[in-house]
Amino acid sequence: MSDPKSTFVPVTQPFLPPLDEFQPYLEDIWKRKWVTNNGAYHQQLEQELCDYLGVEHLSLFSNGTLGLITALQALKITGEVITTPFSFVATSHALHWNGIKPVFADISPVSLNLDPDRIEALITPQTTALLPVHVYANPCDVERIEAIADTYGLRVIYDAAHAFGVRINDRSILNYGDMSVLSFHGTKVFNTFEGGAIVCRDAKTKRRIDNLKNFGFVDETTVVAPGINGKMNEVQAAFGLLQLKHMDQVNAQRARIDARYRNAFRNVHGLKMHEIPENCTKNFAYFPILVTPEFPATRDDLYNELRANQIAARRYFYPLISEFPMYRGLPSAGPHNLPVATTVSRQVLCLPIFPALAEADQDRVIETVLSSAWRNRRAS
Ligand SMILES: *Cc1c(COP(=O)(O)O)cnc(C)c1O
Repeated sequence: MSDPKSTFVPVTQPFLPPLDEFQPYLEDIWKRKWVTNNGAYHQQLEQELCDYLGVEHLSLFSNGTLGLITALQALKITGEVITTPFSFVATSHALHWNGIKPVFADISPVSLNLDPDRIEALITPQTTALLPVHVYANPCDVERIEAIADTYGLRVIYDAAHAFGVRINDRSILNYGDMSVLSFHGTKVFNTFEGGAIVCRDAKTKRRIDNLKNFGFVDETTVVAPGINGKMNEVQAAFGLLQLKHMDQVNAQRARIDARYRNAFRNVHGLKMHEIPENCTKNFAYFPILVTPEFPATRDDLYNELRANQIAARRYFYPLISEFPMYRGLPSAGPHNLPVATTVSRQVLCLPIFPALAEADQDRVIETVLSSAWRNRRAS
């Protein structure tokens, strides 16, 4: 069935603006000879991102993982933190690097995010914070999470790595909780090759974060904390400024693909598409489907059929974080504690979606999924 002439379709691809548009930025950097440490483009990108996203205080980072690690440091989080096993492994690794014990709570079968109903039973005297993730840019139940945090005096840090530009009722999702952490990795909707940011609530906290990402320096001779090097450089920041100019186009292209997939898979028995509530803006970062037992093939069958047609669907997020060797011994990591996450992780498949995905390649994805549904139905 696979056509030898057909080219490989990756699950995602960074959006790269025309190269000649980047040249003037590089010339500026060469002229200024200031390549990092809060340079002019760095300052400009922080301001433009605040305006674009609708947030007040944002600190750029060299990547999202260092953002997560530093957010936990800035809030002096210790002990235990309740988090989701259904995420990229960096979410829990950031806790591990701070000597904090992750406590895994199950996810909601609808949002696929940390289930607020499962949080309270896991709170102990050692619990200091919650670390939920807006998985696939679908907002967590921020109101209920805030209520629980207020009742128990817990901090809330959102891993917002997927949630660039997402709003609920026209308010940025990044304005909930004590901090939100973005990733600008090449696979994310907005990228600076590698990069990330912490969004926080006030100028004093931003200053603390900025000190922490620069070894703890506050001036030439004063170090106030054991900080780290999390600084974004000028080339990355310049690329971010250029990328930002193209975001409307990027979003429109992703939206078109999302609409085509939804239309094509609308009536496929046993395929569940992920729905984002009406009052939320979408960024079409991912196209996850759940291959349920009613579908005539298994998730891995479909994954392999796509592979055979040179299409790289990805099993995000499988395995669960709680199944990796450094976490699976934790009392909260057992599958009996995480039935929904365990099931979803075995059914989920993310289909290719990115601005440059050609219509012919979208068609190949659609035809492969539909033919799997048909062929396997006749066979069974
Ligand atoms: C990408 C990602 C990260 C890590 O971000 P980097 O910028 O790659 O360090 C963290 N959490 C989630 C959920 C992610 O998808």
